[in-house]
Parts: sequence; structure tokens; C-alpha cells
Amino acid sequence: MRIDKYLANMNVGSRKEVHKLIKDGLVTVNGDVVKTPKQKVEDHDEVMVGDEEIKYQQYHYFLMNKPKGVLSATEDRSQRTVISLLEPQDRYQGITPVGRLDKDTTGLLLLTNDGQLNHALLAPNKHVDKVYWAKIAGVADESTVEKFAKGMTLGDGTELKPAQLKILKQDRENDSSEIKITISEGKYHQIKRMFGAEGMKVVELERLQMGKMTLGDLEQGEYRELSPEEVENIR
Ligand code: URA
Repeated sequence: MRIDKYLANMNVGSRKEVHKLIKDGLVTVNGDVVKTPKQKVEDHDEVMVGDEEIKYQQYHYFLMNKPKGVLSATEDRSQRTVISLLEPQDRYQGITPVGRLDKDTTGLLLLTNDGQLNHALLAPNKHVDKVYWAKIAGVADESTVEKFAKGMTLGDGTELKPAQLKILKQDRENDSSEIKITISEGKYHQIKRMFGAEGMKVVELERLQMGKMTLGDLEQGEYRELSPEEVENIR
């Protein structure tokens, strides 16, 4: 790979900024000053900018606690996206959210430029469990648990796989509930539509877990980079 591409891919700067660093003699490969942006580098080469070593990492994985009000998308003309919550140096080319959370849903969202992982986690036959907490307008009870456990068919004919519903709180006086639900797929507005089909409304929704991955102590709007090893162990 050309040294200018290598450095731009590692977000050292734009191509133009990288060319300036090279021109200023700040870039070395295995101790030799780079003379031209066209110079080729191999994986095992030691690339330095000033006294900082720039190691090549093709794929990046971020675990984010998505706040309300941002879209799970890479770009939008008028609304903020989860990409805008990443520091500029973390906005690697091709980075996208793995699946979508609704604009008003909070919680665990994975972002990566590893297309294969993205596909592997979303493919319908992969069954990666996702656990959500929700506040519901309406009283969920044992009959809701049973209907969800059987796998329901929504009004438009969408057939859903069995889902495990756990009732955490029932408040008949205020006609509300708090629940935990585990689903293994990610159909459009799935949880909202499941409760909607039972005459209830999801008032708040937070994703707590995806596979074995949990939010840990990430606050809303925060994110951290995962190691490829952590990613290996998601499922
Ligand atoms: N189900 C929903 O209805 N919304 C989400 O954001 C995620 C799951």
C-alpha cells in the first residue's frame, strides 16, 4: 500500500495533510525518511510520524451507548447520526452501525468498518440474542409472556421467532409495566410492534446486551474501542 494511503487510512490526516507531513520530512519507514507519497509499505514495516509509531489496523470496532435523538445511520441531511458522536479521528472510512436502534431508543450499539462481522451479526440465521429493557404503557402479564414465547405473527403477516419476556414491574394503578425482553432477530420496530399488537405502547426502550456484550459502565453518548478479541467473543 502507498504510504499516503496507509497514513490517511489510519486517520493521521487527510491525503493533503499527509503529503505535507511527508514533504516536511516527518514520516519515516524503518528509520528512513520517506521522500515520496508513492512509496510502498508492507505490514511488517515500522512507520513513524515524528516520534509516534503508526501501526496499521484495518478494522475498528466501537461499542457505544447510544443516546436518544440520534439516528443509527452514517449520514443524514438534517439530523445527527451516531457517526457524529465519534471523535473525528475515529470516523474511519466505511464505519457503520451494526443494525439499527430507533431514534428514541438508547443503549448498546456496535459500530465497525468490518463488513463481514456486520453481516455475520445481522444475518437472520445467526440468532444473536439482544436483550432490551423497556417501560410499557399497559400491563404486561403471563398471557403476554406466553404469546411472545410462542413466536407471534404481526398484523402485516411478519412471523417472529420466540422471544423471552420477563416482567420486572407491574403497576395496575398507573397502567404501566417494566420488562426485559430477549429477541434473536432485529425486524423493523420489532419490540414496539410486538407490544402494539397486544394493545400496549413502548414508552422507553434501552438495549442492554447483544450476544455476550454488555454496556458495562458506558454512559449515554460515550463509546470505547473493542479489541478484535473482544469482538470474537461477542457470540
Ligand atoms: N425494537 C424496536 O421497536 N426498536 C428498536 O430500536 C429496537 C428494537
